[in-house]
Amino acid sequence: MTNGNQQKADVLIVGGGVVGASIAYGLAAEGARVGVLDAEDSDFSASRGNFGMISISNKGFNNLAYFRLSYASSRLWPEFASTLREQTGIDPAFDLKGKIYLPVGDAEFAAHAEKVAEYARRVGADYRHDILNRADLQQLLGNVRLGERVAGGSFSPLDGLAEPLRLYSGLINAIRRHGGWVLRDHRVGSIEHQGGMFTAHGQWGSLSAPRLVIASGLGTPDLASQVGISVKVRPQRGQMMVTERVEQSFPYPISGLLRQNPEGTIMIGVSTEEVGYDDRTTVSVLKSLAMKAVERLPALRSVHINRCWAALRPRTEDGYPVYQESREYPGAFVITCHSGITLAALHRRLLPKWILGGRKDALLEPFGLGRLQNASAA
Ligand SMILES: Cc1cc2nc3c(=O)[nH]c(=O)nc-3n(C[C@H](O)[C@H](O)[C@H](O)COP(=O)(O)OP(=O)(O)OC[C@H]3O[C@@H](n4cnc5c(N)ncnc54)[C@H](O)[C@@H]3O)c2cc1C
Repeated sequence: MTNGNQQKADVLIVGGGVVGASIAYGLAAEGARVGVLDAEDSDFSASRGNFGMISISNKGFNNLAYFRLSYASSRLWPEFASTLREQTGIDPAFDLKGKIYLPVGDAEFAAHAEKVAEYARRVGADYRHDILNRADLQQLLGNVRLGERVAGGSFSPLDGLAEPLRLYSGLINAIRRHGGWVLRDHRVGSIEHQGGMFTAHGQWGSLSAPRLVIASGLGTPDLASQVGISVKVRPQRGQMMVTERVEQSFPYPISGLLRQNPEGTIMIGVSTEEVGYDDRTTVSVLKSLAMKAVERLPALRSVHINRCWAALRPRTEDGYPVYQESREYPGAFVITCHSGITLAALHRRLLPKWILGGRKDALLEPFGLGRLQNASAA
């Protein structure tokens, strides 16, 4: 059961992953009284198991609005990261350094070059992504030798990365510093609406607020249905591994496959698997990720893997984010996406005003649930 002070919230957020925490941080920084209710540490948590890329150059091929949303977030990231660091002393290790793509073989390279050219045509001036020959790539990679079958590739300066666990603990710290509270082991079982207040109930007791945000990742659909919103969110497994520390060997992340952390460990990822709620690792998938990495950078063959894990992405029906206020119960919001690191800076900046009763920003407008009738996959 919670104490009297904690019960006085302007906004309750159900779900304390990176999406709920980014919104809570923004709300608390705006002066709102915010409470975050999060389930058990053993629950599914994409925020504790992701690759930490701020991905822009591969976003929105079929949906320009999604590119614009992700791009806007990347522009907000530098200020977001530095403010978080100043306010909490926790550095999310953000760097907008760009990303290399390394297709393997001539056919893959040709298809990649065609796709990049088509992206540039669709997006226009904001899209920056250069096709590179093997010699240029080798120069970008410095001393680490390229695999024999890499004919060419590309570099986009649009992309960046952060250290996801540091980001996450920075956000929780920042919420608390701004007077907000985060309660673990506070799974919400049901939600009621009465007299302009939403009440969240769980085995721990009940808490009420005039505004409620459901940002519960895979737990979103059940709760959303209780405030009149029908939304589908399915799990999509991603597996990855991390190596022992080695000397700094490659300066840029390589598509969604490789990144080297400042302390020298290398992350190798990330699979995309439709296996339901199974968050176990499998030897076959990890082996194929390792082979892809070695095919591109053969020196990795001698580096030891220290740890591997799997986590489940919350995926909406069409792959795009959902920002929806309930029509039946205004003041209740559903927010979910599968690129919560990329979008963290935008969530902190643009969502609080809307949640507190202001206008929904034009960048968010295309991502209500109404679009699902004619969406194409992200
Ligand atoms: C392998 C992998 C790699 C990824 N790589 C990237 C990347 O490089 N870049 C990027 O931008 N994104 C990446 N993502 C996606 C990113 O991690 C997610 O978009 C983000 O973590 C989603 O955050 P969330 O808060 O919505 O969900 P979660 O982190 O899953 O958090 C949801 C929270 O809600 C809580 N909850 C659920 N039900 C209830 C309830 N009834 N009551 C109270 N609490 C509840 C859960 O316990 C959980 O803490 C990756 C994801 C995976 C799995």
